[in-house]
Amino acid sequence: MPQIRSVTEEELAAQREIMARLAAENAARPAPPLAWVDTYGCQQNEADSERIRGMLRDMGYGFTESEAEADLIVVNTCAVRGHAELRALGNVGALSHTKRAKPEQRIALCGCMVQQPHMREKIKESYPYVDLVFGTHELWRFPELLERMLRPHRGRIFEARDIDGERYEGLPVLHKDRVRAWLPIMAGCNNFCSYCVVPYVRGRERSRRPETILEEARQLIAEGFREIYLLGQNVNSYGKDLGGPEDFAWLLEKINAMEGEFVLRFMTSHPKDATERLFETMAACEKVERHIHLPFQSGNDRVLRAMNRGYTGEVYRKKAAFARRLMPDLAITSDVIVGFPGETDEEFEDTIRLVEELRFDMLFTFLYSPRVGTPAAAMPDPFTKEQKQARFDRLLQVQNDVSREMQAAHVGKTYRILIDGEGDKPGRLTARSSHNRLIHLEGSPALIGSFRDARITGSTTWSLSAELLKEGD
Ligand code: SAM
Ligand code: SF4
Repeated sequence: MPQIRSVTEEELAAQREIMARLAAENAARPAPPLAWVDTYGCQQNEADSERIRGMLRDMGYGFTESEAEADLIVVNTCAVRGHAELRALGNVGALSHTKRAKPEQRIALCGCMVQQPHMREKIKESYPYVDLVFGTHELWRFPELLERMLRPHRGRIFEARDIDGERYEGLPVLHKDRVRAWLPIMAGCNNFCSYCVVPYVRGRERSRRPETILEEARQLIAEGFREIYLLGQNVNSYGKDLGGPEDFAWLLEKINAMEGEFVLRFMTSHPKDATERLFETMAACEKVERHIHLPFQSGNDRVLRAMNRGYTGEVYRKKAAFARRLMPDLAITSDVIVGFPGETDEEFEDTIRLVEELRFDMLFTFLYSPRVGTPAAAMPDPFTKEQKQARFDRLLQVQNDVSREMQAAHVGKTYRILIDGEGDKPGRLTARSSHNRLIHLEGSPALIGSFRDARITGSTTWSLSAELLKEGD
């Protein structure tokens, strides 16, 4: 049984006290200190960074995007693939120059990469100018760790408990966006896919209490957010650890029933837990958008077994077909790993077949990256980098053709879109359709945050262009 503890109200109150103390100190300074929070990886990390920013705001910090200007830099790292670690380390390396120019600058690293002991060792040895390192389980203790770090002669601080996880609620949040809000409904993962580091660095699955999720959703809607994105590594197992009747479909129904002009999305669904009830609930809830991200990882049954995914290619096909029968306009996107240890050319062909057959609206393709401590990292892997890269390139080609055709099929159609931001040029906007397609269009920034009807006028592999319908169109 996992050992999961609830953080006590006294412990959280002690953190709030520290926040108030630092806020008072910072208010007495001629100008607020500036923080830069740099985030790598998935939406869960984005959501964690919004909590770090929320705590910093409540401690009297202002914000900057410039590392040279920042008094405090927090780098929230990712460990899912080697590439993400290298990118974060490269940028932390570059910070040695900024710190030389501004010696009073403080640098903190947090997140999945530094939850791994070998990575903390590396930071200790090779990045001596990093002042504070804290793991994923220490997020709620950030005020305490920050205060310790700010003390003179404090030495470097490394804190990362190796625990199954803790439950807590109520950290302050500063949202980065004003249209889309991330709403984490659970933390951790119990699936132990054999290639994946997440269960080791994020601990066991913990669902948040239903009433606090509903309260947060209500608040986000009241604040004017138009898109609520429910987050978890496997949202379909929401509630299993709570022992009550509430499951993910229940949660969707409850939020769907709330008053207000908003839409609901979620990520990620594990195919083994994506039930008919989930798809039926999606189909019945008018605010739940017509998109599901359903990673399949491989089309070959032996590889799926070695990955410990808990389904076969056939089961996946059946679930996708069921979902599309219920919702013919449903967009399905997916993740796939190429070059899992021992995957043969013939086995890879099953992945190609599945991609050709199922025609995903979008596919995120990853080259397998060995992760320290995972079972797959110890499996024999006779295929060369070049062989794997050739497979990867071929898969990309196949999917690009599919994506182009799927995108082109939208041209001429009229959709209700959510305008969510400014485009790359003045007078240009970005938006999303219910299928989560990225749309470029012309219009005034005043439209950001509104739902409009638009006709799709063009397409590329990655995005659509559209024009707003005028009244009477
Ligand atoms: N929990 C989600 C799920 O199971 O679908 C995804 C979590 S993971 C952050 C996102 C994607 O990264 C996975 O779907 C997988 O395709 C990919 N991934 C995870 N570990 C990987 C590894 N060691 N090498 C390459 N890709 C990996
Ligand atoms: Fe990793 Fe699998 Fe958990 Fe997703 S479900 S986070 S791939 S272990």
